[in-house]
Amino acid sequence: MSGKQYDLLLKNGRVIDPANRLDQRADVAIRDGKIAAVGPRLEGQAAKTIDLSGLIVTPGLIDCHCHVYPTFPQAENRLYNINADAHMLQAGVTTVVDAGTCGWRDFMRFKETVIDVSEVRVLAMINIAAGGMVCMESEQKPEEFNSGVAAEIARAYGDVVVAIKTAHYWTHKPFTDEHRPWTSVDATIRAGELARKPCMFDFYPWLPERPYQGLIERMRPGDVHTHMYAQQFPVLDENGRVSDFLLKAKQRGIRFDLGHGAGSFWFRNAVLAYRQGFVPDTLSSDLYMENIHGAALNLLNIMSKYLCIGMPLQETINRTTVEPARQFGHPELGTLSPGSCADVAVLKLHEGDFDYADCGNARLRGPWRLECKLTVRGGRIAFNRDALGMPEWTEAPAAYWTSPGIVEP
Ligand SMILES: [Zn+2]
Repeated sequence: MSGKQYDLLLKNGRVIDPANRLDQRADVAIRDGKIAAVGPRLEGQAAKTIDLSGLIVTPGLIDCHCHVYPTFPQAENRLYNINADAHMLQAGVTTVVDAGTCGWRDFMRFKETVIDVSEVRVLAMINIAAGGMVCMESEQKPEEFNSGVAAEIARAYGDVVVAIKTAHYWTHKPFTDEHRPWTSVDATIRAGELARKPCMFDFYPWLPERPYQGLIERMRPGDVHTHMYAQQFPVLDENGRVSDFLLKAKQRGIRFDLGHGAGSFWFRNAVLAYRQGFVPDTLSSDLYMENIHGAALNLLNIMSKYLCIGMPLQETINRTTVEPARQFGHPELGTLSPGSCADVAVLKLHEGDFDYADCGNARLRGPWRLECKLTVRGGRIAFNRDALGMPEWTEAPAAYWTSPGIVEP
């Protein structure tokens, strides 16, 4: 590209790449949109070199539960969604998984207007309900659950469709033969079997006819329950111990996702569960319009909460890179291995007194806060909070101009 050996050289950062068990001061070199090399004191000319002393360099983060379909067909449901490029890059997130906002009926529209045109890599879960999960009326209609069609789409677009989702299901009438307590869960598992994909269960609401334990028993190893610390789930028994059936489910390979959201993360469940080893496999935001300015905010805010709860930094990064990448069948993502796509997050870890809110209006104080300083997506600087690598304005040439983020030729 530039005639130089590298397009971009990120020097002197603390590189944490859990996939390669790396946590050391090192340089990261990028060429042609890919990671070219990682190691201490890399030699070689680069078109642009940025010193990252004092900062943490990680693979671009993966937020495996959010809602990014702002072109949804019905206007009222569109408003629920965020724009992935607008909200994610500034938090170091370069890959998102849309958690079933879109049902099988509108998948092509979602693909053409979001997946194919976003800078952030967008992967998707297909909702078992035709209309998707912001069309709650569709989620209540068994005639709109079509395991075969959902599985066909998941197989035909297997590179971007990573799972099948069901979220909200209830009835105001007595359950019937067609409208049974487990119809949406059963249809989702059937689609997952046909597509050979995992399923994600939101499971709202639980009802006497549809208890939480029944969901956990139905789930297959590799399936994911999200919103694991929501108030409505019996995470802890009356003595504050993690419920035995949850510990057994973990041993059986059932996966648990944080899915923070506007109502699903309670310190009262999460902190006690963490101390007993019942920990999220994946940290995720469940970001949508109602929580971007609230307790969820972004993925880094949730990682910061976990640092304050006591999770080591490397583990928060592992659960936002390697774990979601493997969970959703893309182990090539979430790593800085040479040859992989050059998605990189540069973070500052602040130490001080910081307060965090949960979804139940409770507060946790802790010493840590992560901030994103720079995001590289596919080799391009997509976010640069502190003008890293730029000359002082007094030193810049009079006609100096380059489009933000373009690596200089
Ligand atoms: Zn969600």
